[in-house]
Amino acid sequence: MRDVVILGSTGSIGVQALEVISENPDKFRVVGLASGSNNIERLIEQAKKFQVPVIGTTGDGVSIRAALPKASVIDGVNSAREVAALQADIVLNGITGSIGLGPTLSALESGNKVALANKESLVAGGELVLKFGREKIVPVDSEHSALFQAMQAGRAADVSKVVLTASGGPFRERKDLSGVTPAEALAHPTWNMGQVVTINSATLVNKGLEIIEAHYLFDIPYSKIDAVIHPQSVIHSMVEFVDGSTIAEASPPNMRGPISYALAYPERVAKAMAPIDWSSSHTWRFQPIDESRFPSVALARRCGALGGSFTAMYNAANEVAVDAFLRELIPFTAIVDTIDATVAKLNSGAPESLRDLSDVTAIENDARRVANEVMARK
Ligand code: MG
Repeated sequence: MRDVVILGSTGSIGVQALEVISENPDKFRVVGLASGSNNIERLIEQAKKFQVPVIGTTGDGVSIRAALPKASVIDGVNSAREVAALQADIVLNGITGSIGLGPTLSALESGNKVALANKESLVAGGELVLKFGREKIVPVDSEHSALFQAMQAGRAADVSKVVLTASGGPFRERKDLSGVTPAEALAHPTWNMGQVVTINSATLVNKGLEIIEAHYLFDIPYSKIDAVIHPQSVIHSMVEFVDGSTIAEASPPNMRGPISYALAYPERVAKAMAPIDWSSSHTWRFQPIDESRFPSVALARRCGALGGSFTAMYNAANEVAVDAFLRELIPFTAIVDTIDATVAKLNSGAPESLRDLSDVTAIENDARRVANEVMARK
């Protein structure tokens, strides 16, 4: 029996994790849930169904206390950090955005292992997270779960490169991206995710974040991390070894796979998802990323090479720009232009390494301020 804490329980990752857990009551027990303030009713429902003893919300805890008089309810801005620190076998961090970094660090400080779906923890604070040891993190991001699984086919010293796959988003074939609307960008062809992640997938900023994530998770230089478009999203990523062999992990796109793998690792959960159907014919295509239409990927590599402060800026500037795009204040292509201009402006004066969470917060605040200035000027 594994004691599991779920952060971001009412979001897409959290909901699917609870599905896996409800189908495997002999394997997992939920000891804590935390979520934001926007879906208190669902949080209460989840807490009731799984008889969860500790519940955190960034919103007001009054209605939760009324509905669940026996539970211990933590509310306020630090609630996710407190729930992350509960004694557990694994803490699943399904929070979106760099706001998830604090809870990741809190879980690690308490000695917990983290099933990490919050890639921003590594993008914004990779150095801080890895101080606790790589073995404390099991990735939930589908690409990194694939790499993690494929890595087990050989020695780390024999890896020649890793190749992340990208669906390419809804604009894979579209020539001119300047007129893209939020509604178009939110219609993702293969994955069903939250709004910010879906926009990041359309700009390929998501792939940029994932290149940075892979660098930290697997201690691989940026020069050995490639990305390729694979529209079917069945091969979730590949590891190439020095002898020319490539090991890929494949399954129909379904986050229950990587979620269940991270929760149960090194075991596997039976029937976590449907496997590939080999009785019908299908084709898997691969094509290089057109970096002139999608400058986000090269920019992420550039930030990565400059260091952890710059990856934190990349992410923070993007969060601000995506928000502005969704409110129709800036055009689609201005999202990455804003990140680029922000990083260029902050290039001198940023510290090379991060000492603690307050360093990250300071850099992010600078990046958000500059990004807003950049957008206001246009
Ligand atoms: Mg991913």
